Amino acid sequence: VDIERLKEIDRKHFFHPTSLVKQHKEGPSMIFTEGNGIYVKDAYGKEYIDGVSTLWNVNVGYGREELAEAAKQQMTKLAYGSSFYNFSHEPVIHLSEKLASLTPGDLNVFFYTSGGSEANDSAIKLARHYYKLKGKPEKTKVISFQGGYHGITIGTTGATGIQEYKDMTTSNPPNFFHAKPHLLNCEKGDKTDPDYSESIRGIIEREGADTVAAVILETVVGVGGVLVPPEGYLKAVRELCDKHDILMITDEVICGFGRTGTMFGVENWDVVPDMMSLAKGITSGYIQLGAVAFKESIRDEIIDLSGDNFFFHGFTYSGHPTACAVALKNIEIIENEELVGNTKRLESVMMKGLKYLEENHKVTARSRGIGLMGGIELLADRDLGKEFDSSANAAVTVVDECIKRNVILRALTFGGKNIVPLAPPLIINEQQLETIFEVLSESITAFEKTL
Ligand code: PLP
Repeated sequence: VDIERLKEIDRKHFFHPTSLVKQHKEGPSMIFTEGNGIYVKDAYGKEYIDGVSTLWNVNVGYGREELAEAAKQQMTKLAYGSSFYNFSHEPVIHLSEKLASLTPGDLNVFFYTSGGSEANDSAIKLARHYYKLKGKPEKTKVISFQGGYHGITIGTTGATGIQEYKDMTTSNPPNFFHAKPHLLNCEKGDKTDPDYSESIRGIIEREGADTVAAVILETVVGVGGVLVPPEGYLKAVRELCDKHDILMITDEVICGFGRTGTMFGVENWDVVPDMMSLAKGITSGYIQLGAVAFKESIRDEIIDLSGDNFFFHGFTYSGHPTACAVALKNIEIIENEELVGNTKRLESVMMKGLKYLEENHKVTARSRGIGLMGGIELLADRDLGKEFDSSANAAVTVVDECIKRNVILRALTFGGKNIVPLAPPLIINEQQLETIFEVLSESITAFEKTL
């Protein structure tokens, strides 16, 4: 393979998702060619541990022939089948039954998309439609977190609370509000807290519950910095939503399918939302699929209140047969190999590794994690909580050092923060996880030497 030629063609003709100016000038820094287990190879044949499951999605690891076989069989049997109107097909029926057996509470009805953004967009539309049918068309507002990420469509850019994404357009959609994450006391009603006006509760009071359709939150905030909710937080939001007749939507695009040591993240806190969005781990990234799980009671109310043709919302690829067949096989792997149990077991190794980093480096602070989802922050002065200025390129430098040492990690640098997340495939073993921490520690040391 002529790698330089590939790079040049890429530079010339491929506009990357989340593009860097650097790539448009220099071409891609890495061209992936193969994957096996927790390892990926680049065009030069160099092998790396994938410490973040690429985009937090390759939960069962690479090179699974069973998934390729499931796709092949379905494509050969029925390559495509619509499930619009009153049509259906076998894979979508079987997947829906399987998901219903796994999702908490009565989240037993599923609408399908091709990814997480479409799932969240659909959930928001569904919430607004629901209240319109109930004679409350003014209930349209949506509250999410500052720093939360829900996707990249126009609607979900509204819900996303990361300014860098919002800055892409001068016309973000109206009726989206952003609360500070995890203000437990405020959500429980403590009005003396100085942050109260920025809490979900404060926003509901200010805007009026009659105008709010939904609260949408990542169960554990991912891209915004791996923020695990404090004990009791999700329950407090659940109670708030119940009190004000507002739908609670949890975004489980990252947390779903084992990542946090339970099949779905909300199970850690024993909370059942009204809707839950799923994507990524549903197929471990082998093929595009997303879903909105919602309560049977909501489905029943929508049907009761609607005419014959009641939900004008569906994608050509909603419930694509091949994607559903792959999802079913992927879930079978997660169950047969007890990957949720493996994740739970390795949580202590993850937390120990993060603590080690925190205690052995000058620039590390605020480690956090759950299951196989962890994060560590880099600070210029951790006693003062002082962040690095952007010229230090802290997280990017650490991640570059990791890549030199054959471990792929990712830098989260939104809002001036420097966070290195960890989210390896759920098939990882203890020794491999420790290798990631050794490399990360060496890489932080290399960065510290530049200061
Ligand atoms: N929600 C969360 C929590 C995510 O992390 C992401 C993607 O990273 C999305 C939604 C958007 O999903 P997609 O990129 O599949 O549209």
